[in-house]
Amino acid sequence: MYKGRCVYPGSFDPVTLGHVDLIERAAKLYDEVIVAVLNNPDKNGKFSIEMRLSMLGKACAHIHNVRIDSFGGLLVDYLRKAEASIVLRGLRAVMDFENEFRMAQVNRQIAPGIETLFMMTSPAYAYVSSSAVRQIAAFGGDITTLVPQVIITDIQNAYADAST
Ligand code: ADP
Repeated sequence: MYKGRCVYPGSFDPVTLGHVDLIERAAKLYDEVIVAVLNNPDKNGKFSIEMRLSMLGKACAHIHNVRIDSFGGLLVDYLRKAEASIVLRGLRAVMDFENEFRMAQVNRQIAPGIETLFMMTSPAYAYVSSSAVRQIAAFGGDITTLVPQVIITDIQNAYADAST
């Protein structure tokens, strides 16, 4: 167990089983995992920030050392405020690498004390993504293998509301 906390930032639009798997594994390594939803005014998600936080809360209710939060602005500023120096990110396939590599370099450049830690996806979740969930849910498809059971109704309701 490492001391201290790590911050797992992302869109979580919505949280998937792949995200929860990463959070569970990180929670075994750190005293505390802060899951931080990026509130990006340039990128309107499908779900409101409040909805994403609420779904994350339900999806992580079984993990005792997890805190759910949201942030705007620079991730490194958020880390400073949260008194954390580790950023957790996940890697699924080679296509994730380029983008993650770039972001990690930028963060290191502007805040040298910060380390980005990458965790490989579990093979079962290698193809699970929030965008797949949104695409399938929009057409009323089966998302039971992609997201935690406890948020399925929330997702279905959001799409039902949108179509009325
Ligand atoms: P972002 O918009 O910041 O990429 P996401 O919510 O899509 O936010 O993902 C947050 C982090 O979780 C990213 O590092 C992403 O690579 C990782 N991630 C997403 N899905 C999975 C998965 N199935 N397995 C492992 N890591 C994942």
